[in-house]
Amino acid sequence: MDPLTTNNFILGLTAWAIAFLVVLWISLIIWTYRDIRSRLRDPLMRILAVLVVALLFLPGIVIYMIIRPPRTLEEEYQHTLEEEALLQSIEESPLCPGCGRRIRETWSVCPNCYTKLKKPCHQCGKLMELPWNLCPFCGTPAPGMRKENITMDDALRPLPAEEEPIPEPEADNT
Ligand SMILES: [Zn+2]
Ligand SMILES: [Zn+2]
Repeated sequence: MDPLTTNNFILGLTAWAIAFLVVLWISLIIWTYRDIRSRLRDPLMRILAVLVVALLFLPGIVIYMIIRPPRTLEEEYQHTLEEEALLQSIEESPLCPGCGRRIRETWSVCPNCYTKLKKPCHQCGKLMELPWNLCPFCGTPAPGMRKENITMDDALRPLPAEEEPIPEPEADNT
């Protein structure tokens, strides 16, 4: 084999390798800049991150991947929103009228003070608010309510607090 051709071949190969490494280096710097921009607002830290990758190249990328903030600003924002929503849902959960502790919408009795919170429909078994005289799910009047022509509006209107509670044969909370 002609030594000149071999030399040229090695030279060409080296040139390609160098060109590839330069393109990779530039790409990594651009990627790091974009990545750190989505994670940090501090311009000094952004420059530092790009510098680490620019100076150390592949080891720099590894270091950057280890120490970069785990969440992007967008993810951080979503996370904050979720936390706020969670906090709000806790704050909005109703309080037991008997003991004041937080209760769930689906509970029929307070587990702490045994106050009756809801009554089950005797027809379909779904939970109704205590003042309701008609089941809003199946339309069955509550036991003791013999008004046949009661309207949905009348049934769903909450009773004034001082009014007598609806007589319930099976209820036994003294
Ligand atoms: Zn309670
Ligand atoms: Zn029902």
